[in-house]
Amino acid sequence: MNLLETPIEYLKGVGPQRGDLLRKELGIHKYADLLNLFPNRYIDRTRYYKINELQNSNSEVQIVGKIINIKTVEQGKGRSRLVATFVDETGQMELVWFQGQKWIRESIKINVPYVIFGKVAQFGASYNMAHPEMELLEEHKASLRSAMQPVYPSTEKLANKGISNKVINKMMQQLFVETQALFSENLPNYLLEEIKLIPKNAALFNIHFPKSQDLLAKAQFRLKFEELFFIQLQLITKNLIRKHKIKGMPFEKVGENFNNFYKNHLPFDLTNAQKRVLKEIRNDLGSNAQMNRLLQGDVGSGKTIVALMCMLLAKDNGFQSCLMAPTEILANQHFNGITELAKELNINIKILTGSTKTSDRKIIHEELENGSLDILIGTHALLEDKVQFHNLGLAIIDEQHRFGVEQRSKLWKKNDVPPHVLVMTATPIPRTLAMSLYGDLDISVIDELPPGRKPIQTVHRYDSNRLKVWKFLKDEIAKGRQVYIVYPLIQESEKMDYKDLMDGYESISRDFPLPQYSISIVHGKMKPADKDEEMRRFSEGKTNIMVATTVIEVGVNVPNASVMVIESAERFGLSQLHQLRGRVGRGAEQSYCILMTSHKLSNDSKIRMETMVRTNDGFEISEVDLKLRGPGDIMGKQQSGVLNLQIADLVKDKEILQLARHHAIKLLKDDAPMEKPEHAKLREAFIELGKKKTIWNYIS
Ligand code: ADP
Ligand code: MG
Repeated sequence: MNLLETPIEYLKGVGPQRGDLLRKELGIHKYADLLNLFPNRYIDRTRYYKINELQNSNSEVQIVGKIINIKTVEQGKGRSRLVATFVDETGQMELVWFQGQKWIRESIKINVPYVIFGKVAQFGASYNMAHPEMELLEEHKASLRSAMQPVYPSTEKLANKGISNKVINKMMQQLFVETQALFSENLPNYLLEEIKLIPKNAALFNIHFPKSQDLLAKAQFRLKFEELFFIQLQLITKNLIRKHKIKGMPFEKVGENFNNFYKNHLPFDLTNAQKRVLKEIRNDLGSNAQMNRLLQGDVGSGKTIVALMCMLLAKDNGFQSCLMAPTEILANQHFNGITELAKELNINIKILTGSTKTSDRKIIHEELENGSLDILIGTHALLEDKVQFHNLGLAIIDEQHRFGVEQRSKLWKKNDVPPHVLVMTATPIPRTLAMSLYGDLDISVIDELPPGRKPIQTVHRYDSNRLKVWKFLKDEIAKGRQVYIVYPLIQESEKMDYKDLMDGYESISRDFPLPQYSISIVHGKMKPADKDEEMRRFSEGKTNIMVATTVIEVGVNVPNASVMVIESAERFGLSQLHQLRGRVGRGAEQSYCILMTSHKLSNDSKIRMETMVRTNDGFEISEVDLKLRGPGDIMGKQQSGVLNLQIADLVKDKEILQLARHHAIKLLKDDAPMEKPEHAKLREAFIELGKKKTIWNYIS
């Protein structure tokens, strides 16, 4: 057995009790886990201070001296602190502990030289240090010491039970003593040479015991590269396997419906980006492999017509297709839009949502199973087991970030042979994230808006400017435009949000009175039929103002609406703000987005407002979002597992990721099964990793 697989409690100095804590608190089960516990940061411990040199600078210092006495000081209410007097030849100070007093009192030695380390604080004329790190001077000298001292991740519980950073450090030293000879290289030599990576064992050594800043940087680079490289190998291999093993249903011909639509019924010229993307998709659909493609395109870039044309291809090849949207409003809109676009074609299109009547459902089920239904549009309702297709050839998912993992895989299973899958999203994902999360998907981007659109003008206004804003709305309405006013709705404070919305609606009704103005309202508590009715009235121009919660965030298309007012804009995330803004600017008129906030704004909120005012570019916005929130938050809980990286950071290590991806692709092109002798070690490590990490499974 590999020594590195040994349970952690067998490491000298650990034992069952500490082993248990390490498992529970840090997920360290065996030697290898400890080895891969990388420091969060490093402290420069080259300098030793004297007590008379101390200043109230709140920085960390290390001092050599002795403890000459130690006592427990009662603080009342049953609480106490432990206080030691620490001296060197220049003066004295106090060391203080609030936690773990018993353990410290028992283990501390009096009148023996220690090296202490921590932050000093001044109290009157004297200094003290709370919870210092301590090490006997003798051990300090003998230890695998380096100038850059690692600080390991820890938890309060570990600290309370005496497993300090120093203790972890000692465990690490012991681990190296026992196992260092076993660390073997897992990357091919030519790669080490080409990108100047230091060997694995040197990297591990220097990440835990850096000899210098320079070696530390090299160690970090090597380990980050390795981590990202293996992820990319996994993702790309998976993609290759899918393409080879999962036989798709080739859509061999471009037939009557597609051609007829393209030649005779296109309502406008496709943009070059739309044409390019269609070509990419057609290539996939025509090959023998199952398509798994992500279509990214900013709001308003025209993804719907691309979706329709793909579904026409399916029909031309004798297959059914479906389009799933996250909300009923959006499903309805797709249904109306697509029915309209395809009205001259002889195609059977139906919609299925939670509110479809039983009698209609029955017809849909029948037509689906006997194959006479060509295109089914709908919500989650499509995923129900009762919904069985005759031969589903293409599944399109709109706004995919709204759907969870299981939901996507359910769609896969709707056919014996998995259907081609096209995932469409209007939330641009930064390249680095796309490469890590969807590395196994092919990606198409519509990076061009239809011609004639004027960029939306965005401004930030405070609540105190409301009168002026209302005046502006009245002017726009007088020109025949329509207006959205959106209120936040988040689950946690639903009741309060609902009240805000209703209060807002009331005051808007007062400020924009009948008969001159008419107002629609749409929110989550309404019956779907009522929502649709209100949406319809607004989109037909019968009402001037749409007051709504974020139900309208996704996809709604009313070209005559030219102003988007977002109330309490500071409570929205960047991608949501961008989505909301995308509801306007869909017609030929100049459109506006007005972000209303209170005067009190956090720094992050300020950055969000400034970003929105500065740019309309979804990709730029998503980069800022990634920096503000970090990758885990952006992708949501279900998908954040993939981002539990040991050492690399998707925000900071973009270049390394790109390098890793480049080399992973190159290597797999050359030797996909990793059979060449120079890839033997790599292959071994790759297989080992595949056994452990199941995090990739969610992707499809
Ligand atoms: P999204 O990508 O946000 O789903 P849509 O498909 O809803 O965008 O398209 C937004 C609007 O742009 C629609 O009104 C659509 O008819 C229009 N549109 C799409 N493509 C073009 C084009 N090539 N030329 C002009 N208008 C277009
Ligand atoms: Mg859309």
